[in-house]
Amino acid sequence: MSIPKDIRAELSKCKMVMLDDILLSNKSTLIDSISVDSNFVFIKQPTKCPHCQSKDILGVEVMGAYTGRLLWECEDCESYFLRFTKKATEKYLQSARDLWTNPEDWSYVPPSKFN
Ligand SMILES: [Zn+2]
Repeated sequence: MSIPKDIRAELSKCKMVMLDDILLSNKSTLIDSISVDSNFVFIKQPTKCPHCQSKDILGVEVMGAYTGRLLWECEDCESYFLRFTKKATEKYLQSARDLWTNPEDWSYVPPSKFN
């Protein structure tokens, strides 16, 4: 079964990042640390950036936070915007942080056991 054209176009406008890749600072909330503009919430992909009017908007999936697009990023001015409420987004982001900062939770395989 082939993927319909409109869905394929949607998928191509998405990128996957690690939380560490998008953290710019170390504020009290992760949303503030990423510098998301929380004045805007777009359930669906915005047609243009509310800051610079650019139409090059990307969906951003944060690994370990949420399966699917969690944030929007303007490719021109690099602003981030919310897809969900600030509270929900912060909760998703926190779960990604737990994932990457608790290596003892991972099932560790010593290099000598690799095939
Ligand atoms: Zn912009």
